[in-house]
Amino acid sequence: MIIKGVKAKSIKDSRKEPTIEVTIDTNVGKFSASAPNGKSKGKYESKSYVKSLSKDIDSLESLSDYFSEEYLEKFEDLRRIEDVVKGHIGANTLFAFETAVLKAISKEQKKEIWEIVNTNAKKFPRFVGNSAGGGLHSSTSKKPDFQEFLVISDFNSPEKNQKNNLEAKERLKYLLKKKDPKFNEKKNDENAWVTSLNEKEVLDLIGQLNIPFGVDIASSSFYSRKKYHYKNPPLDRTKEEQLMYLKNLIKNYNLFYIEDPFDEEDFESFSKLLKFFPNSLIVGDDLTVTNYKRLEKAIEMKSINALIIKPNQNGSLIDLANVVELAKKKGIKTIFSHRSGETNESILADLAFGFEADFIKCGVTGLEREIKIKRLIEIEKRLK
Ligand code: PEP
Ligand code: MG
Repeated sequence: MIIKGVKAKSIKDSRKEPTIEVTIDTNVGKFSASAPNGKSKGKYESKSYVKSLSKDIDSLESLSDYFSEEYLEKFEDLRRIEDVVKGHIGANTLFAFETAVLKAISKEQKKEIWEIVNTNAKKFPRFVGNSAGGGLHSSTSKKPDFQEFLVISDFNSPEKNQKNNLEAKERLKYLLKKKDPKFNEKKNDENAWVTSLNEKEVLDLIGQLNIPFGVDIASSSFYSRKKYHYKNPPLDRTKEEQLMYLKNLIKNYNLFYIEDPFDEEDFESFSKLLKFFPNSLIVGDDLTVTNYKRLEKAIEMKSINALIIKPNQNGSLIDLANVVELAKKKGIKTIFSHRSGETNESILADLAFGFEADFIKCGVTGLEREIKIKRLIEIEKRLK
């Protein structure tokens, strides 16, 4: 496949915030792809754009002529375009560009995108579905301090898992109606229910649903000056108090999945928690930011047994492949994840399947989330 030209423009994500869409013109047609936006971003994520979205567009377009010299036919060839753009564009621009390239390669090779990643992929990821939320993803004043309450159905089929997560989210609506006087069926950034309840009250309800569940605490978003600042109810916790509190929650609610339980600098507290709960998933997101060095540190410190993979935290799909390889080698579960501001791009599903991820976290409902879920169900049907 040969790239004949590159164009990019600003489009709106699901939160109506600007993000980038890249279109490449090739010998096999035109292909577009976009990148999502995070809100509760990790401090160590790669920058979305070098200076700004519009400057990235100029930089990418100005490199257009260099790409036409490369013949691209396999996943590893992305390295050659990375050599050209390195330092000139940010993570969002690079991810959207590489996604468009994978689409063009798959067209030329008459293969599915996931086959360009790994022809032998067989395993389907389980869905980690956001059912209710608080934190930075909900704009209401009284809300849970935890960002996401996740339902994680456990069948061996995407179609069945989606149905099960959907039913759980619907049943949660009725439970919230009964328990939360302020509940009005509003949804937050990721299409999860907005509630005024606190985390324990929400967990009491989810515990009745008969489905494995967990939380994304996104605790860096309410950590400052050595304390976790809870608002609902107001209470400041030191890291020792946070550890004690979470130990109780995990035990009492039998939590299967706990993402970012501590601040993104605190590898040590993560490892203390993992020592107590080796059979739950202790997940790094802001801690590890899809970055090889931070994953190495998390492994050395025994901080996590599961890892969020967000392509645009890094930008480079070659780096992402190395991160996934290291995680797998060390027995760390991988969770490919959407961002809170999403687009109608479905590549996340192909990447999750191609890399044989253990889980995919991409919501339960909402157009931009369902596009990814439906793509996995489509892959499942085609392989039957
Ligand atoms: C997350 O923290 O898992 C998440 C999806 O947040 P965001 O995309 O807002 O960074
Ligand atoms: Mg997270």
